[in-house]
Amino acid sequence: MTPDAQAPLLGESMAGMNVATLNADAWHLQYGDPAGARALAERAAALAREQGDTLGEAYARVSIACFEMRHGDQEFARDEFQVLKKFFAARNDSRGQLRAGFGVSVILSWTGHSSEAYAELIGFVPQLEEAEQVDVFVVRNALGAASAEAGMLDEGMRHFYQALAAARQLDSPDHLALVLSNLGDTQHGAGNYEDAIRFLIEADAMVAKSRLAALAPLVASNLAMCQLAIGAHEAAYETIQPYLELERGEVRIGKADAAFFQAIAAHTYTAHGQWDAARDMCDRALLAAEASGELRVVAHCHWVRGLVERGLGKPIESLQALQEASARLGNLQDPYYPVQIARELARAHADLGQWNEAYQHLEQHQQLYERSLGSAARARTQITRIQSELAEAERERDFALLKQAEAERARSELELLNRQLAAKMDEIEHLQTKLREQAIRDPLTDLYNRRYLQEELGNEIKLAERRHYPVCVVLIDLDHFKAVNDRFGHPMGDRVLIELAGMLGSNIRGSDFACRFGGEEFCLVLSDIGIELALSRVRELLERFHLLVIEMAGRRLDCLSFSAGVAEYPAHGNSPEALLAAADAALYRAKAGGRDRIFSAE
Ligand code: GH3
Ligand code: MG
Ligand code: MG
Repeated sequence: MTPDAQAPLLGESMAGMNVATLNADAWHLQYGDPAGARALAERAAALAREQGDTLGEAYARVSIACFEMRHGDQEFARDEFQVLKKFFAARNDSRGQLRAGFGVSVILSWTGHSSEAYAELIGFVPQLEEAEQVDVFVVRNALGAASAEAGMLDEGMRHFYQALAAARQLDSPDHLALVLSNLGDTQHGAGNYEDAIRFLIEADAMVAKSRLAALAPLVASNLAMCQLAIGAHEAAYETIQPYLELERGEVRIGKADAAFFQAIAAHTYTAHGQWDAARDMCDRALLAAEASGELRVVAHCHWVRGLVERGLGKPIESLQALQEASARLGNLQDPYYPVQIARELARAHADLGQWNEAYQHLEQHQQLYERSLGSAARARTQITRIQSELAEAERERDFALLKQAEAERARSELELLNRQLAAKMDEIEHLQTKLREQAIRDPLTDLYNRRYLQEELGNEIKLAERRHYPVCVVLIDLDHFKAVNDRFGHPMGDRVLIELAGMLGSNIRGSDFACRFGGEEFCLVLSDIGIELALSRVRELLERFHLLVIEMAGRRLDCLSFSAGVAEYPAHGNSPEALLAAADAALYRAKAGGRDRIFSAE
């Protein structure tokens, strides 16, 4: 046992702790470390109040009420649960309703109202599909207890098995120990001692791993109870012995659990013939049981009392105690106690020579015993059935989860592929645009190339024909450009080409365009202007070009010029070839005329 296992958690600083985390931890710890759970819940409540978080505070109050229910003021807890249930209902908070309902149910169950306890919780079952495992656990475990108490053993086992599955999911020794202990108890109640002992031994192993110092005596009680039932009195005595010291010591164990433990301890004393010790323990157990309100334990105490009185040679007191036990059982649907108590009553009457009554009780015992044998057999079958059903459900759930994961993976893979495809397509489109541009652009000057000119000039002429406007074609050829290259080097020649291209490109309108026609030849297509205007535009360009000064590598180049020929559609031709030829002829004349001039086609 590691009672200090939660110490680091409590020792942690509050920084970063929020109400929800504190509440979740408190709820989880309610079985494993009730005092720790309570401390966390108090902090959560204080923090929630500070932050005006009424919902968070309500959750904290549920945990505090759970502590009070087990270790303190049950009346207070009952009222709290009722108030909180209404609060959560008004908020439409189903988890809160479930938790408060759980508290209400547990108290009902403890006070002998098992049917009401069952009714309180059964409605929450549909919402468990979506619930946290810790809530699945509390509801299933409490339903298991309420069902078993109400005599619905099969259903009880089913709920406990679901609680067991939740506990395995939580991977929490605390929860495992508790539900295994309950399963053992149920099997014991059904008279199926083999399975009961099996569960309880596993519970015992889980308790050792858990923080449940408080649960250890409970599991021991249940195990001892089974051992008593199969007549293994010595084993029962040994099971209980190690905890008697603890019981006297500091271990905080719930009132009801303490009462149960004491009742069983007293019972093992009677099996050992330690009548005084048995009576003392039985007195204490009865006080604790009456205080906790757990009728089963109260009945058990009177039963043990009956055994003690008989052992002390007081048959009348023994009979009275057993009759009290029977009366306290009332309509409690526990399948175990009536069998045992009927037998003891038969013995007590026999001790007093009351043969008729003895015989009646014996007959009753016989019937109940046969019924319990049947119930034990049914319980064994039922266990096998539930185990296979749950294993099947688990397989189905695992399979569904697997399918879902596969579908999810396939979907995200497809999504990735789609994204990659889209990116590829963007890239291709971008490349295509670039290629298209490259196909029609001159890389040095970034002007259109001759190929583009040939396509576009045709289109331009067609448009001009339809819209009846003139188009001018200008061919420009640099003067003595070979000499520039020769004297200044090829890079300087390139600079000149780039500068002129820039000048041409930025001094035409959007409807015009400029191309690099060849090495140091350029062509302008000027839309919707006549020859005179075109000539004056080109003249302006030439003047600008004259002013161009290029400095490169410490050398200076100026006084540049070009010659140009201009032809007009439709005056000088109505095809690209005719117009270019006319402009070229004019350019040739400009060159021949001494260069640095602009000629119109004839
Ligand atoms: P003209 O006045 O009769 O036109 O004389 P020119 O020297 O300009 O004419 P020519 O046809 O004899 O020479 C053209 C020169 O243009 C030759 C070639 O080296 C140069 N050239 C053609 N393309 C480029 C180029 O891309 N860069 C450079 N730097 N020079 C080029
Ligand atoms: Mg030339
Ligand atoms: Mg030239």
